[in-house]
Amino acid sequence: MQSKDPCIARGNYGRYKAFSLCIVVWSVVRIPLLPPETALWNFVEAAVRDVFRAYNFHEIRTPIFESTELFARGVGEETDIVSKEMYTWQDQGRAQSDQGQSLTLRPENTAGVVRAYIEHKLWDRGLSKLYYIGPQFRRERPQKGRYRQFYQIGAEVIGPASAGSESPARDAEILELLATLLDRLGIKDWTLELNSIGCANDRAAYNEALRKALEPVAPKMCVDCQRRAVTNPLRVFDCKVPEDQPIIEKLPRISQFLDEPCRKHFEEVKEILRAVGVEFQLNDRLVRGLDYYSRTAFEFTHGALGAQNAILGGGRYDGLSEMLGGPAAPGIGFAMGEDRLVLALSESAEAVLRKPDVYIAPLGGNMNKEAARLARELRRHDVVVELGDERFRLKKSFEAADKAAAKYILIVGENEVKADVFALKNLATGEQKAVPRAELAQMIQH
Ligand code: ATP
Ligand code: MG
Repeated sequence: MQSKDPCIARGNYGRYKAFSLCIVVWSVVRIPLLPPETALWNFVEAAVRDVFRAYNFHEIRTPIFESTELFARGVGEETDIVSKEMYTWQDQGRAQSDQGQSLTLRPENTAGVVRAYIEHKLWDRGLSKLYYIGPQFRRERPQKGRYRQFYQIGAEVIGPASAGSESPARDAEILELLATLLDRLGIKDWTLELNSIGCANDRAAYNEALRKALEPVAPKMCVDCQRRAVTNPLRVFDCKVPEDQPIIEKLPRISQFLDEPCRKHFEEVKEILRAVGVEFQLNDRLVRGLDYYSRTAFEFTHGALGAQNAILGGGRYDGLSEMLGGPAAPGIGFAMGEDRLVLALSESAEAVLRKPDVYIAPLGGNMNKEAARLARELRRHDVVVELGDERFRLKKSFEAADKAAAKYILIVGENEVKADVFALKNLATGEQKAVPRAELAQMIQH
């Protein structure tokens, strides 16, 4: 029987067709990141690290795969991520008697951070302010801005309540950090949508009200909503089916159910945001439907991204540590899609790419080693050098320097080496100078 997998299929397809189909299939799993585009990613990551440094966050690197149970509990069985998007497999185990373990490629990073917090007793350090940058994996239908291997930049502020982890000042600081980061990257036209989903008490009453309101209308809704109406009514607000929206619009909102401490907490977050000049829009449809999520929930969206317009989402998860077997450790965090962030940049890869300052062209026999010596000296002065080959004729060296978009070409021939003075030509202006070795680095950089 012929395989349906185009990477294996032959027969009617010519070799070329099969090959091009393979590329289509591979590339939607994860488009490889190639230069010059990787320069944009580095530009983003360097800015991100700078911003985190200014807010005194430190990097954490968690394992790429962990036990399935961690994500099932940490993300929630009810979520799309756990119910249908995880890459999970049964590890074989080392001995025959060993049944092995169910493992999962991480679909998100908060569970891994909280696990590290618990296992390494990070509460001893007071408030932990951690950030991460790395790949996540979800089984989704790939399209623009949605991949099966994608990258997230995220942060978590977590610690004992005595270290101030519950304070609205932390929520506001995270939101202000995000506004700073997006501004710093030159990303305009973002919208911060903000809500408070209260705490366990508020939600018991709210869930009750929602259930009641859903009872008569649920049969008219999509199958997912019919299920949610029974298992976790809050998640009805995640529904994106257009026909369900008028029904959802009429449901009671959590904002009417906040108790006094939650209302005050939210007021304070908003007050600080107004004081520091970060604009936001209230959206009381924005919810996170798990028991350990509480109070502040937020999302940043960007118009230019089309259907996949959420750049990041986050919120408080005051009960997550306990859910994973740890001590009480209130926390707040966010996860930002780096792929979508890069799509939203107005910078072009070419603009942020550092081109070679100079192309060194060895001319004639035995000049490779002289050129290598010179390249080594210049690179120590932070000059970006592309090094040629004595086998190239001068014309070919010029072509290579042009192709590499070098600013200068530097000729290293026998006469130059003897005199220790080199011909340096500006490729844009055509101006050529004889420059003594000791002055080369300075001349090239200015
Ligand atoms: P969406 O509604 O777009 O599926 P989500 O609620 O699943 O988002 P989160 O789990 O909150 O997303 O992840 C945080 C961010 O990570 C998202 O706002 C988005 O920018 C990014 N993200 C999530 N899934 C993907 C994906 N498959 N490919 C690229 N980016 C993603
Ligand atoms: Mg999703």
